[in-house]
Amino acid sequence: MRLSDTLTRAKRDLPDVPGPVRMYFCGPTVYDRAHIGNARPFVIGMWLRRWLAARGYDATLVHNITDINDKIYDAAPGASAALAARASEWYLEDTRDFGLGMPDHQPKASDVIPQMIAAIEELIAHGYAYAVDGDVYYRVAKFDEYGRLSGQRPDQVEEQEPNPRKEDARDFALWKANKPGEDTWWDSPWGRGRPGWHIECSVMAEQLLGPAFEIHGGGLDLVFPHHENEIAQSHALGHPFAKVWMHNGMLRPVGHAKMSKSEGNFETIRDAIDRWGRETLLVFFLTGHWSKPIDYSDETLRAAEARADSLREVFRNPSEAAAEGEWNRFVAALDDDFNTPEALAIMHSWRDQDLLRRALDVFGLASLADEEAAPPEVVELATRRQQARASGDFAEADRLRGEIAGRGWTVRDVADGFQLVRAPRAA
Ligand SMILES: [Zn+2]
Repeated sequence: MRLSDTLTRAKRDLPDVPGPVRMYFCGPTVYDRAHIGNARPFVIGMWLRRWLAARGYDATLVHNITDINDKIYDAAPGASAALAARASEWYLEDTRDFGLGMPDHQPKASDVIPQMIAAIEELIAHGYAYAVDGDVYYRVAKFDEYGRLSGQRPDQVEEQEPNPRKEDARDFALWKANKPGEDTWWDSPWGRGRPGWHIECSVMAEQLLGPAFEIHGGGLDLVFPHHENEIAQSHALGHPFAKVWMHNGMLRPVGHAKMSKSEGNFETIRDAIDRWGRETLLVFFLTGHWSKPIDYSDETLRAAEARADSLREVFRNPSEAAAEGEWNRFVAALDDDFNTPEALAIMHSWRDQDLLRRALDVFGLASLADEEAAPPEVVELATRRQQARASGDFAEADRLRGEIAGRGWTVRDVADGFQLVRAPRAA
């Protein structure tokens, strides 16, 4: 299997089965209900782990939660820790509702403070970091490969969080001295403070996966500075860190460049699941290649809903055995850069229920094979309609069809009676 890698700008091969394939996917900063854009790296990470497991790999997924951050202090002055704890639970609940299972580990930044302090001390000891007035900064000038991931020349790297205490505008914070209004802090060799954002991921990834692991994932918006800084931190300590850097394209509400809270146009995962259902959302994510942006709109969601329904339809009809080699076509699509749109197109061509159920199961969609049973009162209406038809009262039969439709069901006449199918929801 191979995957597109941001660092080498090429497709890189994964090791042979059984691996291991150890993966770290950056998770959200928790200060509110997470928006649907945050769900994409979660869904891709979980699908990849499910697919690797189905291929016989020993696959592990770590997905962190950032529970110390300026955004959290700003959102809940004086009560940031309580908000972060509550919003972490929301994120776990909301992502669990995709029905894909959960990552192997979901560490929080606040759980690894001593390990982060130790890593920062080691960076200082090696000359890669310096302390000033209770802050600690990474010395970018000392790290030759800086800028490689984001494709910037080392001497022209974009400035990060400018402030006069830094030796160089490119340097970034590893530790930040406690400021008024920040209600969480920890004691450190540099005084009371809290870690910067980037060090948490270097530390948690290595603690749970080791100093070398196969895949690091996250949204394309994390390439710089977050992932550039993770590489700088871990490579400075001589650790190989991630082999493949996998960045997913952003979700964009149609007509906008990016979906984010700061721009005020977003839908939460909770609202999206309540509005569309998990199956439609998963089919929606399947329609786009993970490395590309994907348009999020009522139109694209309705199209995904129609696709989900056409997959359900296969299970309402007799199964037709697929030709030899069809499963291998599906495997080839996913093994070559995890091409889910191509895999979906192949699935749409199948009428073989066993094969389709097996493929859907990779993506948490085996439920599309299970027809929802109609409630007894709807079955009774359909029985009365059948009797009306048999006695030639077609007006009554039509009236009953309308009543059934009003309850959200479609009645179909089949050889041995009738079939009740959930009607597509009104838009
Ligand atoms: Zn991260």
